[in-house]
Amino acid sequence: MNINELINIRRHLHANPELGYNEFKTTELITEYLLKYDIQITHEFCETGVVGVISKGTSDRMIGLRADIDALPMQDRSNNPWVSLYPGIAHACGHDGHTAILLGVAQELALNCEFDGTVVLIFQPAEEGLAGARRMIENGLFEMFPCSSIYALHNWPELKVGELMTRTGPIMAAGDIFEIEICGSGGHAAQPHLTQDITLAMGEIVVMLNTVTSRALHPCEPAVITITQVECGSSHNMIPSTARIIGTARMFSPKAQDMLASRIHDVVMKIAESHGAKAHVNYIRCYPATINHIRETLLSIDAGKMSGMRTAEAGYPALTSEDFSFMLEKRPGAYVWLGSGPCAPLHHPEFDFNDDAIEHGVSWFLNVVKSELA
Ligand SMILES: [Zn+2]
Ligand SMILES: [Zn+2]
Repeated sequence: MNINELINIRRHLHANPELGYNEFKTTELITEYLLKYDIQITHEFCETGVVGVISKGTSDRMIGLRADIDALPMQDRSNNPWVSLYPGIAHACGHDGHTAILLGVAQELALNCEFDGTVVLIFQPAEEGLAGARRMIENGLFEMFPCSSIYALHNWPELKVGELMTRTGPIMAAGDIFEIEICGSGGHAAQPHLTQDITLAMGEIVVMLNTVTSRALHPCEPAVITITQVECGSSHNMIPSTARIIGTARMFSPKAQDMLASRIHDVVMKIAESHGAKAHVNYIRCYPATINHIRETLLSIDAGKMSGMRTAEAGYPALTSEDFSFMLEKRPGAYVWLGSGPCAPLHHPEFDFNDDAIEHGVSWFLNVVKSELA
C-alpha cells in the first residue's frame, strides 16, 4: 500500500469538499481510482457515490464495506496548505479520510490480498443529514448486492491513533428534529390583557421541554432534548404574533422515540392553549439509532487486534447519529470508532482528519475481509 498516495488523495479531497448529493468530482476521483485497478463499478444507486465490486475464489459469500464521502456546510479554518478552496464547505467530519481509507482497501484487495468471495465497496453520498444510505437502499443496493454482513468506521478524535472502540447493541443515537410554531393575536406591549402573549408561552415551552426526558422516560433510558433555535419578536413595544422553536431529540429505542414525539406535542399544545394561543408541531424522524450486531461487533474487535490496535468495548454509546443505521436495519454488521486524536473535535471549524489514522483504518478493513472471507 502506498500510504503517501493515500495521504495526497485525502488532502486533495479536503481541499475540494462537496456537499451531500453534489459529490460529483469526488465520485469522479473514486471512479477513476477503482478503474485504475480494474475494479468493477456501478453508479446504479445514486447520481453521486459509487460502488466497487471485487470477487476472488469460488465462494458466493459477499460482504459490504462502506465509506461516506460528503462534506459539511461550514467554513474550514483548519489552516493547512490543503484548507478548503470553497468558502462555506469543509470536510470537518473526516469523510475525506474515510474515502481515502476505503480506496487504500480497494487497492490492496485488488492487488495483494487473497480471499474467497465478494467485497462490495460502498462509497456513499450525503451522510450529513440527507440520508444517502437510505437512498442507496431504496434504489436497490442490497437487492443487487445481498451482503451477508456490512462494516463501517468513523474517525474518533476522542481516541488516540492506534485505538479502536465499538460496542454491541446501540452505538449511536436516533436523531430527530422538531419545529414548533406558536401563533397569537399579538398587540401593544403595554396592553398584554388584549393579546395572547406568545413570548411567555414560548418561554414556558422551552423550560418544560427540558423536563420531558427526565419525566417521560425510564431513568435508565438515555435520551437528550436540546433546543437550538428560538425566534420571536422584532421590537421592544410590540407583543409578537408568531414564535418558532427548533431543536433536536436523541434516543436509542423506537419506544422512547414515540414517547418523546408524543410528549413534545402534548406539552406544546397544552401550554399554548393555556395562553389562548395556537401551536403546531412538526416532528421529523431523521436517522434511526445505529445498532451493532453481536457477531460482527466481536469480529470487528478481533480485526482491530489483528491490526495491532488497542481495542476496547465502549462503555456508552454516543448521542450523535449516523445514517449507516439504515444499512444496519437491513443487514447484520458493525460500526466502529477509529482513533484519530489528538485533533480538533468533529464538526469543529479547525478539524482536519489525522492522516496517521489512514493505515490503521485500511488494516482494520483488510482484517475484517480476511476474517469474513477466509
Ligand atoms: Zn458528521
Ligand atoms: Zn461523519
